[in-house]
Amino acid sequence: MQAERLQLLVGGEWKESQSQDVRPTFNPAEGKAIAGVPFSTRDEVRAAVDSGAERFESWKNVPILERVQYLFRMKQVLESEAEKLAVLNTQNHGKTLEESRGDLKRTIENVDSAIAVAYTLAKGSTLDQISPGVDVSMSKEPLGVFSIVCPFNFPLMIPFWFIPYAVVLGDTVVVKPSEVTPLPMQRVAHLLQEEVKLPAGVFNMVHGGADVVEALISEPSVKGVTFVGSTPVARRVFELAGKQGKRSIVNGGAKNSVVVTPAADLDASVPAIVSSFFGNSGQRCLAGANLVAVGESEDGILPRFARASSGLRVGDGLEPGTQMGPVVSKAAKERISGYVEKGLDEGARLVADGREARVAEHPDGFYLGATVFSGVTPEMKIAKDEIFGPVASVLRVGSLDEAIEQINHATPYGNMASIFTTSGREAREFRRRVNAGNVGINVGVPAPSGYFPFGGMRDSFFGTLHPQIDSVDFFTDRKVTISRW
Ligand code: NAD
Repeated sequence: MQAERLQLLVGGEWKESQSQDVRPTFNPAEGKAIAGVPFSTRDEVRAAVDSGAERFESWKNVPILERVQYLFRMKQVLESEAEKLAVLNTQNHGKTLEESRGDLKRTIENVDSAIAVAYTLAKGSTLDQISPGVDVSMSKEPLGVFSIVCPFNFPLMIPFWFIPYAVVLGDTVVVKPSEVTPLPMQRVAHLLQEEVKLPAGVFNMVHGGADVVEALISEPSVKGVTFVGSTPVARRVFELAGKQGKRSIVNGGAKNSVVVTPAADLDASVPAIVSSFFGNSGQRCLAGANLVAVGESEDGILPRFARASSGLRVGDGLEPGTQMGPVVSKAAKERISGYVEKGLDEGARLVADGREARVAEHPDGFYLGATVFSGVTPEMKIAKDEIFGPVASVLRVGSLDEAIEQINHATPYGNMASIFTTSGREAREFRRRVNAGNVGINVGVPAPSGYFPFGGMRDSFFGTLHPQIDSVDFFTDRKVTISRW
């Protein structure tokens, strides 16, 4: 089969890239290349930004209630295409079909949330008669064209943390999907253009990696950038945007702890904890990475967690019954496997070993089984580094205080922390003291819905305003008018 070569969307037209740099994107379940991704040239990036900047001048003047109608159509189209999109998502990312359906649900939820925002938070305010004959008003004004830079792990949900808000508030966008999983967004770009019929230039798309991202920040008419990805790149993007006086929302990597106390209800907790560590094959920024057992809770949780993890059925995400899909790429598989070897070298004990996972029908797929280490200590690399795969490190601590201390200081990240306990006092203490932007209490994947900001602290987040609902203030500026009559 001739692999499809992705196109660019610039000013409402699909264009062949002139780039000579074309890289494959894969179906990880089969280990096969399924499309070629041309890394956009500088001129192509400029053309996409220019078309967004040009369209902005008319788009901002479309009444907001008309812009909302595009979002209603967006919601309808995404809902009617959801199952096909979920299948494509699984084919390009590897996650199970059920997980892809969850990705779509959150994608659409952000369209709902942006519609709500348009009717509520986009309003300004007035204060009449601030002095005799003088009134003051504040309006929220769109700014121009924004760059939306995406990671591989939620090919649709994460771009939609931003796109519907920007569009409904009167801005335009240039989206750059991950070069590893660009296909779902490519399909959605077609839908936005041909079914939702967004005016040409409101939504543009380019492809590529580091060079394209730098260009997407540096083009003079770009007003700001949203970025979600690993911490080293996040830091670089934040600095680059800041140096040029541009706004940014920048979410980085993670190394999340899940704490189990002796007061935990293990029957209820184990399935949630297993899903936290191994859902999406551990490639979620909210995934558990370190399981921190307080005192004797380790004796209860460890054998049950190890058994349930080893029992997860690994396979093609499209096959019914698959509980864990492959990891996203050969490079990811090699990196994660390297960490398993490192853990053994560091003296941790393997209590579930996923290294030999094989799927008979797909010998070339990028499969790894669930892996659990016990006897991990905070200074080991497997406890500190973001592995971003199906590898759990179990650490034992003496008290909840020690667990919180470790979470707050042993790694630089602050994306997610969760606690499993039946004690309200422990839960409250944890919630108040832990330095993480998304906190779970008896919840293993505390993913905020679109109506809340998606949190992140310390090296997991750079900036002030967060994705999702916070982006109202990110995608608008305030204009204050004082008038005398
Ligand atoms: P990544 O940092 O490799 O890539 C993210 C994006 O940055 C991609 O679009 C990529 O093309 C681009 N990029 C890569 N190198 C670059 C460079 N040197 N300069 C500029 N741009 C560059 O991340 P990934 O592997 O796609 O995604 C996984 C990472 O994302 C993990 O670290 C995960 O924790 C993080 N993540 C964080 C959140 C969050 O909300 N905090 C959510 C999802 C994923």
